[in-house]
Amino acid sequence: MEYLPAKSIVTRTKNTSWFGADYNMNIYRGCSHRCIYCDSRSECYRVDDFERVYAKKDALAIIGRELASKRKKGVVATGAMSDPYNPQEEKYRLTRGALKLLASNWFGVGIATKSALVVRDADVLNAIADHAPVIVKMTVTTCDDMLAEKIEPYAPLPSARLKGIEVLAKEGIFTGALMMPVLPFIEDNARNIVRVVEAAAGSGARFVFAGMGVTLRDRQRDWFYARLDESFPGISRNYKQRFGDGYQCGVRDYRKLQDAFISACQKQGLLYKMEDIILAYKSKYEQTQLKFL
Ligand code: SF4
Repeated sequence: MEYLPAKSIVTRTKNTSWFGADYNMNIYRGCSHRCIYCDSRSECYRVDDFERVYAKKDALAIIGRELASKRKKGVVATGAMSDPYNPQEEKYRLTRGALKLLASNWFGVGIATKSALVVRDADVLNAIADHAPVIVKMTVTTCDDMLAEKIEPYAPLPSARLKGIEVLAKEGIFTGALMMPVLPFIEDNARNIVRVVEAAAGSGARFVFAGMGVTLRDRQRDWFYARLDESFPGISRNYKQRFGDGYQCGVRDYRKLQDAFISACQKQGLLYKMEDIILAYKSKYEQTQLKFL
C-alpha cells in the first residue's frame, strides 16, 4: 500500500439532501474497480492514475482528531470518490478502523460500495446503529453478471453484492441498492430495471434509488467511449449522435422506464424516493433526540 499525505479527511458536505449526509470521508484515493463510466476520472478531480489505490497517511489518527473536534454530530458518508471496500481494505482495515471511531464518537454513517466485504463490519455498523443512523447503499446497475464484467470489470459481481445486501439485512442494518448509473443503450430497458428491483427486494433491501442515465465529461467521456468501443462496438456512435458533448446523458424512453421502476418498487414494498429513504433510516434517532431534549 502506498500512502499520500492528508491534512483533512472528514469534511462538511455541501448537499445534505444526498442521503442525508452531513460529512464526507475518503480514506483512500483511487479505485481499482475500473467501472467504465467512473466520474472520478474527470479532469476537475486531477487524479491521473485513478485505478491505483493509495491510503491517506495517518488516516485513523486524523479522523479521530477531526471527529472529536466537531461540534455537530451527524452522518458521515463514505464511498463517493473511491470504494471504501476496495480489495486492499481486507488487509489494511482502515474503513473498519474509521467505523469504530464513528461509533465511539457518536456519529452515524452512510456507506456506498460495490463490495460485499462490507458485511465483515456488520458488528461495528450495529454498534453505530445503537445510537446513530446507519445506511448502506450497494450499487447494483444490472443483475447480469456477464454484463457487469464489461461495465464494472474489477468490481465484485452483482450476485455477490446482492448476497451482501442479504447478509446485512439479516443483521438488521438499513440496506438498499443504488441503481445508478443506468447506461443508455446498454441498461435502459424495463427488464433490466425491474430485475434489479426484484432482486434487491428478494435480498431484503429496504430501498432502491435509481439514476436514470449517466453524466459524462472530458476525460471521463474519452475513457468511457474507448471502453465502449472495446466491449460494445457501435454504441459510442449512438452516444455521440444523441448527446454530443452534453453532461447529462439520460436513458431512452425515460417516462416508460421510470413508471416501470416505480411500479416495481411499489409492488415489492421498497422505498424509492430520497426523502422517504432519509426519513426511514434517520427518524428513529431524531425522535430519541427530541425525547431526550
Ligand atoms: S466503484 Fe465508484 S469510484 Fe470505483 S471505479 Fe467504480 S464508479 Fe469509480
